[in-house]
Amino acid sequence: MKITDYFEKVKGQTLVSFEVLPPLKGGSMNDIFDTLDPLMEFKPPFIDVTYHREEYVYNKQTSGYYEKTAIRKRPGTVGICASIMHRYGIDAIPHLICGGFSVEETENALIDLNFLGINNVLALRGDARQFEDKFIPEPNGHKYAVDLVKQISEMNKGVYLDSNIEKGTPTDFCIGVAGYPEKHFEAPNFALDIQYLKQKIDAGASYIVTQMFFDNANFFRFRDACHKAGITVPIVPGLKPLTRKYQLTSIPRKFFINFPDELALEVQKTDDKNIRQLGIEWCITQCRELKQEGVPCLHFYTMGDSETTYKIVEKI
Ligand code: FAD
Repeated sequence: MKITDYFEKVKGQTLVSFEVLPPLKGGSMNDIFDTLDPLMEFKPPFIDVTYHREEYVYNKQTSGYYEKTAIRKRPGTVGICASIMHRYGIDAIPHLICGGFSVEETENALIDLNFLGINNVLALRGDARQFEDKFIPEPNGHKYAVDLVKQISEMNKGVYLDSNIEKGTPTDFCIGVAGYPEKHFEAPNFALDIQYLKQKIDAGASYIVTQMFFDNANFFRFRDACHKAGITVPIVPGLKPLTRKYQLTSIPRKFFINFPDELALEVQKTDDKNIRQLGIEWCITQCRELKQEGVPCLHFYTMGDSETTYKIVEKI
């Protein structure tokens, strides 16, 4: 079922959904099931599975030279989606990125998803590789997420890149895209970022999932700016509870978001073993207010920690 149909079906209510990461290479599908099994009690209609492109690592050789090797630490997004759908009978949403894919490879990936009965995707650009200072698209790959959205929308009309296909079977993908309540870090300003987001919606995306945030005021400002720009699709807030003290600096560095003063001060005063409880309580307060404001769904970045997520969702 399409994600937007779930939102339509329970209009006025707030659903919950979860995001999982593929286990590290050499891990097992049971890692995912261990995270998701306890959370199924909350009847999530869908689960997101992130996609991780290969990274280059530089290994020092005995000669003293470095050898560049490409490795993918977390493969398996599509297979994991299929397993989730099979085990729980709910939808799984693979994240699909521009980075590392030519347009032809993207088409093939979408054909595979379609064959597997996976008809929801979250279309993203992806980040720069670890040792590159900016995002570099693949030769003949997409530069921005909007280009990926356009390609999927074309396939939904039966238009494939392969010119030998004259009347291709239209796919039926429901496309989600990312939004940033505190602006994407590369965008020159908030207003322009919203304009680019609008382009993704105009190109065929049907809903938005946001980057994590710890201050609801930022989400409400973003939602209002989207409405003002003519964006009317559902906007799903993404949430991650704070669990460790060091995250006070690591999260802003990695995700380019700010902590509100009140939370930052509380974290500074609290010792590490009590941070998880503080994070849970903060997130519960955020969720209750977001629910009151009528968000269609609360989307939790579980990061493999079902216990913390469980403690939040059971209270809301
Ligand atoms: P875009 O929408 O392409 O935007 C990227 C930047 O370009 C922005 O600054 C935007 O303002 C600007 N821009 C957009 N269009 C234009 C244009 N036409 N001209 C000029 N500038 C433009 N990454 C992964 O690798 N795997 C994942 O599974 C993953 N999941 C995510 C899930 C969510 C909910 C979120 C919020 C992010 C996720 N990311 C993931 C991270 C994401 O890939 C990065 O944040 C990336 O840097 C931007 O992706 P985007 O799709 O928002 O890009």
